[in-house]
Amino acid sequence: MVADVIDGKAFAAAVRGKVAEHVARLKADHGITPGLAVVLVGEDPASQVYVRNKGKQTVEAGMHSVEHRMDRGVSEADLLAMVEQLNADPAIHGILVQLPLPEHLNADLVINAIDPAKDVDGFHISNVGLLGTGQKSMVPCTPLGCLMMLRDRLGSLSGLNAVVIGRSNIVGKPMAQLLLGESCTVTIAHSRTKDIEAVCRNADILVAAVGRPEMVTGNWVKPGATVIDVGINRVPNGEKTKLVGDCDYADCAEVAGAITPVPGGVGPMTIACLLANTVTACCRANGLDEPEGLTV
Ligand code: NDP
Repeated sequence: MVADVIDGKAFAAAVRGKVAEHVARLKADHGITPGLAVVLVGEDPASQVYVRNKGKQTVEAGMHSVEHRMDRGVSEADLLAMVEQLNADPAIHGILVQLPLPEHLNADLVINAIDPAKDVDGFHISNVGLLGTGQKSMVPCTPLGCLMMLRDRLGSLSGLNAVVIGRSNIVGKPMAQLLLGESCTVTIAHSRTKDIEAVCRNADILVAAVGRPEMVTGNWVKPGATVIDVGINRVPNGEKTKLVGDCDYADCAEVAGAITPVPGGVGPMTIACLLANTVTACCRANGLDEPEGLTV
Protein backbone atom coordinates (compact mmCIF):
# COMPACT_ATOMS: atom_id res chain seq x y z
CA MET A 1 0.00 0.00 0.00
CA VAL A 2 1.19 3.51 -0.65
CA ALA A 3 -0.54 5.99 1.62
CA ASP A 4 -2.50 9.01 0.47
CA VAL A 5 -0.73 12.23 1.33
CA ILE A 6 -2.67 14.55 3.63
CA ASP A 7 -1.70 17.92 2.21
CA GLY A 8 -1.50 20.24 5.21
CA LYS A 9 -0.28 23.12 3.08
CA ALA A 10 -3.39 23.07 0.90
CA PHE A 11 -5.65 22.43 3.89
CA ALA A 12 -4.11 25.36 5.77
CA ALA A 13 -4.61 27.62 2.74
CA ALA A 14 -8.30 26.65 2.73
CA VAL A 15 -8.60 27.40 6.47
CA ARG A 16 -6.91 30.77 5.96
CA GLY A 17 -9.32 31.45 3.12
CA LYS A 18 -12.31 30.77 5.40
CA VAL A 19 -10.74 32.99 8.07
CA ALA A 20 -10.26 35.82 5.57
CA GLU A 21 -13.89 35.52 4.38
CA HIS A 22 -15.14 35.70 7.93
CA VAL A 23 -12.90 38.66 8.74
CA ALA A 24 -14.26 40.50 5.70
CA ARG A 25 -17.83 39.81 6.90
CA LEU A 26 -17.03 40.99 10.44
CA LYS A 27 -15.66 44.23 9.02
CA ALA A 28 -18.50 44.80 6.56
CA ASP A 29 -21.43 43.81 8.79
CA HIS A 30 -20.20 44.87 12.23
CA GLY A 31 -17.24 47.23 11.71
CA ILE A 32 -15.05 44.86 13.75
CA THR A 33 -11.48 43.86 12.85
CA PRO A 34 -10.11 40.87 14.79
CA GLY A 35 -6.73 41.67 16.35
CA LEU A 36 -3.88 39.36 17.32
CA ALA A 37 -0.97 40.44 19.51
CA VAL A 38 2.21 38.37 19.67
CA VAL A 39 4.77 38.97 22.41
CA LEU A 40 8.30 37.80 21.70
CA VAL A 41 10.95 37.85 24.41
CA GLY A 42 14.57 37.62 23.29
CA GLU A 43 16.15 36.82 19.93
CA ASP A 44 15.74 33.06 19.52
CA PRO A 45 16.07 32.65 15.70
CA ALA A 46 13.38 29.94 15.38
CA SER A 47 10.93 32.02 17.46
CA GLN A 48 11.67 35.08 15.32
CA VAL A 49 10.79 33.12 12.17
CA TYR A 50 7.53 31.84 13.74
CA VAL A 51 6.54 35.31 14.91
CA ARG A 52 7.31 36.88 11.51
CA ASN A 53 5.18 34.24 9.76
CA LYS A 54 2.34 34.67 12.23
CA GLY A 55 2.34 38.46 11.72
CA LYS A 56 2.45 38.13 7.92
CA GLN A 57 -0.41 35.64 7.75
CA THR A 58 -2.50 37.65 10.23
CA VAL A 59 -2.24 40.71 7.99
CA GLU A 60 -2.92 38.65 4.84
CA ALA A 61 -6.16 37.43 6.43
CA GLY A 62 -7.23 41.06 6.88
CA MET A 63 -6.71 41.13 10.63
CA HIS A 64 -5.03 43.65 12.89
CA SER A 65 -1.56 42.38 13.85
CA VAL A 66 0.56 43.70 16.71
CA GLU A 67 4.02 42.49 17.63
CA HIS A 68 5.73 43.37 20.91
CA ARG A 69 9.41 42.50 21.13
CA MET A 70 10.90 42.55 24.60
CA ASP A 71 14.51 42.34 25.63
CA ARG A 72 15.79 38.90 26.67
CA GLY A 73 16.47 40.25 30.14
CA VAL A 74 12.98 41.71 30.64
CA SER A 75 11.66 41.40 34.19
CA GLU A 76 8.65 39.21 34.94
CA ALA A 77 6.83 42.30 36.22
CA ASP A 78 7.33 44.15 32.92
CA LEU A 79 6.20 41.13 30.89
CA LEU A 80 3.11 40.75 33.09
CA ALA A 81 2.39 44.46 32.67
CA MET A 82 2.50 43.98 28.89
CA VAL A 83 0.04 41.08 29.15
CA GLU A 84 -2.26 43.21 31.33
CA GLN A 85 -2.11 46.04 28.80
CA LEU A 86 -3.13 43.66 26.01
CA ASN A 87 -5.86 42.09 28.17
CA ALA A 88 -7.37 45.57 28.54
CA ASP A 89 -7.01 46.53 24.86
CA PRO A 90 -10.40 46.23 23.08
CA ALA A 91 -8.69 46.09 19.65
CA ILE A 92 -6.91 42.86 20.65
CA HIS A 93 -8.91 39.61 20.65
CA GLY A 94 -6.02 37.14 20.75
CA ILE A 95 -2.78 37.23 22.75
CA LEU A 96 0.10 34.85 22.22
CA VAL A 97 3.29 34.86 24.24
CA GLN A 98 5.86 33.01 22.13
CA LEU A 99 7.39 30.07 23.97
CA PRO A 100 9.93 29.11 25.13
CA LEU A 101 10.60 32.02 27.48
CA PRO A 102 14.06 32.67 28.96
CA GLU A 103 14.64 30.65 32.13
CA HIS A 104 14.26 33.53 34.61
CA LEU A 105 10.61 33.93 33.55
CA ASN A 106 7.88 31.65 34.86
CA ALA A 107 6.00 30.61 31.70
CA ASP A 108 3.03 29.17 33.64
CA LEU A 109 2.59 32.44 35.53
CA VAL A 110 2.77 34.50 32.35
CA ILE A 111 0.38 32.26 30.35
CA ASN A 112 -2.11 32.20 33.22
CA ALA A 113 -2.04 36.01 33.34
CA ILE A 114 -3.56 36.15 29.83
CA ASP A 115 -7.32 36.71 29.77
CA PRO A 116 -8.60 33.16 29.02
CA ALA A 117 -11.00 34.61 26.43
CA LYS A 118 -7.96 36.00 24.54
CA ASP A 119 -5.76 32.92 25.07
CA VAL A 120 -5.62 31.85 21.41
CA ASP A 121 -2.90 29.28 22.15
CA GLY A 122 -5.31 27.51 24.53
CA PHE A 123 -2.62 27.05 27.17
CA HIS A 124 -4.32 28.96 30.04
CA ILE A 125 -5.27 26.65 32.89
CA SER A 126 -8.95 27.63 32.46
CA ASN A 127 -8.94 26.56 28.83
CA VAL A 128 -7.12 23.34 29.71
CA GLY A 129 -9.83 22.62 32.28
CA LEU A 130 -12.67 23.49 29.91
CA LEU A 131 -11.25 21.21 27.21
CA GLY A 132 -10.73 18.43 29.75
CA THR A 133 -14.35 18.66 30.87
CA GLY A 134 -15.72 18.82 27.32
CA GLN A 135 -16.78 22.47 27.52
CA LYS A 136 -16.31 25.24 24.99
CA SER A 137 -12.73 26.49 25.23
CA MET A 138 -9.89 27.90 23.19
CA VAL A 139 -8.30 24.77 21.70
CA PRO A 140 -4.48 24.60 21.29
CA CYS A 141 -3.63 25.27 17.65
CA THR A 142 -1.52 22.24 16.71
CA PRO A 143 -3.95 19.58 18.02
CA LEU A 144 -6.87 21.57 16.55
CA GLY A 145 -5.18 21.45 13.13
CA CYS A 146 -4.58 17.70 13.49
CA LEU A 147 -8.23 17.13 14.38
CA MET A 148 -9.45 19.17 11.41
CA MET A 149 -7.35 17.04 9.05
CA LEU A 150 -8.50 13.80 10.70
CA ARG A 151 -12.18 14.76 10.46
CA ASP A 152 -11.71 15.74 6.83
CA ARG A 153 -10.03 12.44 6.02
CA LEU A 154 -12.12 10.06 8.12
CA GLY A 155 -15.46 11.73 8.78
CA SER A 156 -16.66 10.32 12.09
CA LEU A 157 -13.83 9.19 14.37
CA SER A 158 -16.20 7.46 16.78
CA GLY A 159 -15.00 4.10 18.07
CA LEU A 160 -11.60 4.28 16.37
CA ASN A 161 -8.47 3.33 18.28
CA ALA A 162 -6.24 6.37 18.57
CA VAL A 163 -2.69 6.34 19.89
CA VAL A 164 -0.93 9.62 20.66
CA ILE A 165 2.82 9.34 21.20
CA GLY A 166 3.87 12.18 23.50
CA ARG A 167 2.23 13.68 26.59
CA SER A 168 3.26 17.33 26.47
CA ASN A 169 0.82 20.00 27.60
CA ILE A 170 0.94 21.73 24.23
CA VAL A 171 0.44 18.78 21.89
CA GLY A 172 0.07 15.26 23.32
CA LYS A 173 -2.41 15.84 26.15
CA PRO A 174 -4.80 18.21 24.33
CA MET A 175 -4.65 15.96 21.25
CA ALA A 176 -5.72 13.02 23.38
CA GLN A 177 -8.55 15.09 24.93
CA LEU A 178 -9.81 16.10 21.50
CA LEU A 179 -9.77 12.51 20.26
CA LEU A 180 -11.61 11.40 23.38
CA GLY A 181 -14.14 14.12 22.63
CA GLU A 182 -14.60 12.49 19.22
CA SER A 183 -15.36 9.17 20.99
CA CYS A 184 -12.10 7.49 20.02
CA THR A 185 -10.58 4.89 22.33
CA VAL A 186 -7.43 6.79 23.25
CA THR A 187 -4.03 5.59 24.42
CA ILE A 188 -1.22 8.01 25.26
CA ALA A 189 2.24 6.52 24.77
CA HIS A 190 5.42 8.11 26.11
CA SER A 191 9.05 7.40 26.94
CA ARG A 192 8.15 4.80 29.57
CA THR A 193 5.59 2.92 27.48
CA LYS A 194 6.36 -0.78 27.23
CA ASP A 195 6.39 -2.40 23.78
CA ILE A 196 5.43 0.88 22.15
CA GLU A 197 5.54 -0.65 18.65
CA ALA A 198 2.76 -3.09 19.58
CA VAL A 199 0.72 -0.31 21.21
CA CYS A 200 1.01 1.78 18.04
CA ARG A 201 0.18 -1.13 15.73
CA ASN A 202 -3.26 -1.18 17.35
CA ALA A 203 -3.97 2.38 16.23
CA ASP A 204 -6.43 3.33 13.51
CA ILE A 205 -5.20 6.88 14.15
CA LEU A 206 -1.55 7.34 15.10
CA VAL A 207 -0.37 10.81 16.15
CA ALA A 208 3.37 11.19 16.71
CA ALA A 209 4.41 14.21 18.81
CA VAL A 210 7.75 13.19 20.20
CA GLY A 211 10.62 15.25 18.81
CA ARG A 212 12.72 12.25 17.76
CA PRO A 213 13.62 12.17 14.07
CA GLU A 214 12.02 9.29 12.16
CA MET A 215 11.45 7.20 15.29
CA VAL A 216 8.20 5.66 14.04
CA THR A 217 8.86 3.09 11.32
CA GLY A 218 6.48 1.14 9.11
CA ASN A 219 6.34 -1.84 11.45
CA TRP A 220 4.73 0.41 14.13
CA VAL A 221 1.83 1.19 11.78
CA LYS A 222 -1.40 -0.78 11.38
CA PRO A 223 -2.11 -1.36 7.68
CA GLY A 224 -4.44 1.38 6.45
CA ALA A 225 -4.04 3.58 9.55
CA THR A 226 -4.10 7.37 9.38
CA VAL A 227 -0.77 8.77 10.57
CA ILE A 228 -0.38 12.37 11.73
CA ASP A 229 3.24 13.41 12.15
CA VAL A 230 3.56 16.45 14.41
CA GLY A 231 7.33 16.25 14.80
CA ILE A 232 9.61 18.93 13.40
CA ASN A 233 13.23 17.86 13.61
CA ARG A 234 16.21 19.45 11.88
CA VAL A 235 18.80 16.84 10.90
CA PRO A 236 22.09 16.99 8.95
CA ASN A 237 21.76 16.55 5.20
CA GLY A 238 25.21 16.57 3.60
CA GLU A 239 26.62 20.04 4.22
CA LYS A 240 23.18 21.42 4.98
CA THR A 241 20.24 20.40 7.15
CA LYS A 242 16.70 19.29 6.40
CA LEU A 243 13.44 18.93 8.29
CA VAL A 244 12.06 15.49 9.10
CA GLY A 245 9.17 14.37 11.24
CA ASP A 246 8.91 11.82 14.03
CA CYS A 247 7.90 9.22 11.43
CA ASP A 248 10.08 7.61 8.80
CA TYR A 249 7.84 8.94 6.05
CA ALA A 250 8.75 6.58 3.19
CA ASP A 251 8.60 3.51 5.41
CA CYS A 252 5.31 4.45 7.13
CA ALA A 253 3.73 5.44 3.80
CA GLU A 254 4.18 1.84 2.62
CA VAL A 255 1.77 0.69 5.34
CA ALA A 256 -0.50 3.60 6.29
CA GLY A 257 -3.71 4.53 4.49
CA ALA A 258 -2.91 8.23 4.78
CA ILE A 259 -0.06 10.25 6.25
CA THR A 260 0.96 13.88 6.75
CA PRO A 261 4.37 14.83 5.31
CA VAL A 262 7.03 16.94 7.04
CA PRO A 263 7.30 19.68 5.98
CA GLY A 264 3.87 20.50 4.56
CA GLY A 265 1.66 18.58 6.98
CA VAL A 266 0.80 19.69 10.50
CA GLY A 267 3.16 22.69 10.52
CA PRO A 268 1.16 25.02 8.21
CA MET A 269 -2.07 24.07 10.00
CA THR A 270 -0.77 25.42 13.32
CA ILE A 271 -0.64 29.06 12.19
CA ALA A 272 -3.89 28.70 10.23
CA CYS A 273 -5.56 27.52 13.46
CA LEU A 274 -4.05 30.44 15.37
CA LEU A 275 -5.83 32.78 12.94
CA ALA A 276 -9.00 30.70 13.25
CA ASN A 277 -8.83 30.91 17.05
CA THR A 278 -8.42 34.69 16.86
CA VAL A 279 -11.59 35.00 14.77
CA THR A 280 -13.41 32.66 17.17
CA ALA A 281 -12.25 34.74 20.16
CA CYS A 282 -13.35 37.94 18.41
CA CYS A 283 -16.82 36.53 17.66
CA ARG A 284 -17.25 35.31 21.25
CA ALA A 285 -16.09 38.67 22.65
CA ASN A 286 -18.71 40.44 20.54
CA GLY A 287 -21.54 37.98 21.19
CA LEU A 288 -21.61 36.92 17.52
CA ASP A 289 -22.05 33.47 15.98
CA GLU A 290 -18.79 31.57 15.64
CA PRO A 291 -17.60 30.73 12.14
CA GLU A 292 -18.53 27.21 11.01
CA GLY A 293 -15.68 24.73 10.78
CA LEU A 294 -13.01 26.87 12.42
CA THR A 295 -13.24 25.36 15.87
CA VAL A 296 -14.54 22.26 17.65
P1 NDP B 1 8.01 17.55 24.29
O1 NDP B 1 9.49 17.36 24.31
O2 NDP B 1 7.38 18.48 25.26
O3 NDP B 1 7.31 16.11 24.53
C1 NDP B 1 7.79 14.99 23.87
C2 NDP B 1 7.04 13.77 24.32
O4 NDP B 1 7.57 12.64 23.63
C3 NDP B 1 7.15 13.48 25.81
O5 NDP B 1 5.90 13.17 26.35
C4 NDP B 1 8.09 12.28 25.87
O6 NDP B 1 7.78 11.34 26.89
C5 NDP B 1 7.83 11.60 24.55
N1 NDP B 1 8.99 10.82 24.14
C6 NDP B 1 10.28 11.23 24.10
N2 NDP B 1 11.05 10.21 23.70
C7 NDP B 1 10.25 9.15 23.48
C8 NDP B 1 10.47 7.82 23.08
N3 NDP B 1 11.68 7.37 22.79
N4 NDP B 1 9.41 7.00 22.98
C9 NDP B 1 8.16 7.46 23.26
N5 NDP B 1 7.89 8.72 23.66
C10 NDP B 1 8.94 9.55 23.78
O7 NDP B 1 7.63 17.89 22.79
P2 NDP B 1 6.37 18.67 22.17
O8 NDP B 1 5.13 17.94 22.48
O9 NDP B 1 6.48 20.11 22.47
O10 NDP B 1 6.72 18.51 20.61
C11 NDP B 1 6.80 17.25 20.00
C12 NDP B 1 7.27 17.42 18.58
O11 NDP B 1 6.30 18.18 17.87
C13 NDP B 1 8.58 18.19 18.41
O12 NDP B 1 9.28 17.68 17.29
C14 NDP B 1 8.14 19.61 18.11
O13 NDP B 1 9.08 20.33 17.35
C15 NDP B 1 6.90 19.33 17.29
N6 NDP B 1 5.91 20.40 17.30
C16 NDP B 1 5.38 20.75 16.10
C17 NDP B 1 4.43 21.72 16.02
C18 NDP B 1 3.85 22.04 14.69
O14 NDP B 1 3.34 23.12 14.51
N7 NDP B 1 3.88 21.11 13.74
C19 NDP B 1 3.98 22.46 17.21
C20 NDP B 1 4.52 21.96 18.45
C21 NDP B 1 5.47 20.97 18.47
P3 NDP B 1 7.99 11.67 28.47
O15 NDP B 1 6.85 12.57 28.82
O16 NDP B 1 7.89 10.33 29.08
O17 NDP B 1 9.33 12.31 28.58
